[in-house]
Amino acid sequence: MSTAFYVVNFSAFAFTRRGLTCGPHMGLKLFNTLSRSIQEFAPLNSPKVSMYCCGPTVYDFAHIGNWRTFVFADLVRRTLEFSGYEVKHVMNITDVEDKIIKRIRETKTSLREFTGKFEAAFFDDLKTLNCLPPHQTPRATEHMPEIIALIEKLLQRGVAYKAADGSVYFSIEKYRGCGCNYGQLLKLNFDEMRAGERVASDEYDKESVADFALWKARAPEDGDVFWKSDSLGEGRPGWHIECSAMSMKALGETFDLHLGGEDLKFPHHEDEIAQSEGATGKPFVKHWMHGAHLLVEGKKMSKSLGNFFTLRDLLAKGFTGREIRYLLLTAHYRETFNFTMEGLHGAKSALARIDECVAKLRELGAPSAGSASSHQRAELALGAPLLQNFSAALDDDLNISAAWAVVFDWVRDMNRRLAENSLSAAEAAAALTGWDKIDSVLGIGTKSGAEVPAEILALAEARTAAKKAKDFKRADAIREELKAKGWAIEDTPKGPKLKKV
Ligand code: AMP
Ligand code: ZN
Repeated sequence: MSTAFYVVNFSAFAFTRRGLTCGPHMGLKLFNTLSRSIQEFAPLNSPKVSMYCCGPTVYDFAHIGNWRTFVFADLVRRTLEFSGYEVKHVMNITDVEDKIIKRIRETKTSLREFTGKFEAAFFDDLKTLNCLPPHQTPRATEHMPEIIALIEKLLQRGVAYKAADGSVYFSIEKYRGCGCNYGQLLKLNFDEMRAGERVASDEYDKESVADFALWKARAPEDGDVFWKSDSLGEGRPGWHIECSAMSMKALGETFDLHLGGEDLKFPHHEDEIAQSEGATGKPFVKHWMHGAHLLVEGKKMSKSLGNFFTLRDLLAKGFTGREIRYLLLTAHYRETFNFTMEGLHGAKSALARIDECVAKLRELGAPSAGSASSHQRAELALGAPLLQNFSAALDDDLNISAAWAVVFDWVRDMNRRLAENSLSAAEAAAALTGWDKIDSVLGIGTKSGAEVPAEILALAEARTAAKKAKDFKRADAIREELKAKGWAIEDTPKGPKLKKV
């Protein structure tokens, strides 16, 4: 006979704070890099939100700094959905640019073979960190017709020109001459800039503001990475034009929200604006958000310092995706975050506190507990204030520290009431409803029964069988054996309960 063991089991529900029929919640305020101020978030076509996040350059495994930015994008998307918006989330895959070409030359592999491996790893990691999959993940190499058409348009409008080697450059002078603003995301100094000075590489700093490459004429070092175009000749696109072409194809010429790490403000995002607005004559993006960088143990990550970690490196050290996600979500997105091993250990204990409280609430407040009206009353009393405070924290430019404070105050309060036996089953069920809604934003509730190893389950069943046979000596011995393996077993009215110690 099998015994019904139950362990902490969180399920992922798609909740919104208002419910789907009421329309989006008003009052969400976010910092906009364009205006350098915190603004009310107001999409062009509410309740729809068009959102683009610059995706990975698939030339290596994404590092923990990259993951800070992608988890931040996931938080933004989940917050918008929680607020009742219908988000279309697009994240590109940069599968051709300078760094990739260099690596395939070094490794003597084909472009697709090389990028395919890192792209697959990226999607695996995205799942490990419980990030919602974007609705579209376009690859640059599959958008050559759109990229070429956009460059042709810029040539026709006179803001791009062909250089002697056949490469095509964006002319900052011509663009500014049309009354357009280059330098929307940060202040640039044009005093030193000489007209027509060019930069061919995909990445450069703001001291070298110059005409940048849209199309790079085929060069011997590119090997067989080139595309043919009747108008542009043989070559490959620059990195910046890829994002302009893919984002506008997926979301239209003007869309709501564009995200990325702070290092992308210049030149990548500034160039995206110039290319897009230069081609369409319309505003490109209404709201820009940039996440601050991550440091490891106070320093910029570097392989030589030994502080460079991919997600896989941390999993190999025994940490879980859930712990890493939690830690990445503890700091405000506009503040530099110092990632430490100590912080990861702290994440483990913080999550354990939440898990224990939620498990106890589930024990007491199974969904059937209490009548509908007492449940509703309890939801008002317990779930609603929790959600209101949590929402208010998010509305304040994603004030995540305040949001976590709401969560841990709630855990403390629930633990106190559970200890005092002053929580009814209906109240516990209502509290759980509130928690599930909150976790639709935080995305940390992924612990499941599957995490109890089969060997432990078998021992627990053997103990139940021993107790039934009144062999209490054996039952106690099994309890000790479980303890030695790191598991506590507790007999409750609903059956034996396993808990990791
Ligand atoms: P990449 O794959 O290099 O194109 O970068 C992917 C994303 O990671 C971009 O949005 C970058 O801005 C971001 N990023 C790169 N380094 C860091 C870092 N140390 N901390 C946070 N974000 C980063
Ligand atoms: Zn981009």
